[in-house]
Amino acid sequence: MKFERTLIEKIRQAQRIVFFTGAGVSQESGIPTFRDGPNSVWQHFDPEVYATVPGFDKNPTKVWEWYWERRQTFKALKPNAAHHVIAAWQEKIQKVTVITQNIDGFHQRAGSQSVIELHGSLAMDKCRANGHSFKHDGNSVFDEHPSCAECGSLLRPDVVWFGEALPDVAYYQAEMDCSNCDVLICIGCSMDIYPAANLPYTAIASGAYLIQINLNSTNLNEVANCNLRGKAGEIMPALWQAVYEN
Ligand SMILES: [Zn+2]
Repeated sequence: MKFERTLIEKIRQAQRIVFFTGAGVSQESGIPTFRDGPNSVWQHFDPEVYATVPGFDKNPTKVWEWYWERRQTFKALKPNAAHHVIAAWQEKIQKVTVITQNIDGFHQRAGSQSVIELHGSLAMDKCRANGHSFKHDGNSVFDEHPSCAECGSLLRPDVVWFGEALPDVAYYQAEMDCSNCDVLICIGCSMDIYPAANLPYTAIASGAYLIQINLNSTNLNEVANCNLRGKAGEIMPALWQAVYEN
């Protein structure tokens, strides 16, 4: 795989790099996308039922059963080469941040230490009444009515549902990191959900070099300094090799 000289040099010289990842990265690990594509989750399941507060309030047990099944599925799957290469970059660059729209925790499993989860995490629960947040205890027995250890109210999955805002602190941190990076690499993001889709523009406005890796073209094609079309699990290891082993 051939890469432009400028791209290689920009990465070699970077002191702060941000990876912004979306469904396309985890899809290669076998996790179906939620929104895009013919086999996406919301093509098969009604998001009104499984991904809204009213849906949860109407039938929390049904919603919990569904997320519990997803937890079991995610556990059985593994991070892929793209997740591993992203984590390896921590050894080479002074500051590496991963901003992700995925809820699967695969970046952390691959070893990434600084991960901002814009859509929450399937590994976390939060209480419906007061937003107390907990790491899921990991046991594999289904709990029909999980309750908050702080206030006793019903727990829900700590993921961002339709009609909900992105978590303030996470989004603020993501904006800060995008406005303070030398290179931003967007991988497998569809780039049509706002405000997350604004993040690359924040980086460009601050002078960052923007690389996009995607199977498909997106809104970013025209503004990216470099577009690499293909699978992240193939492009990322090749890019690493081109930067450090040539
Ligand atoms: Zn609580």
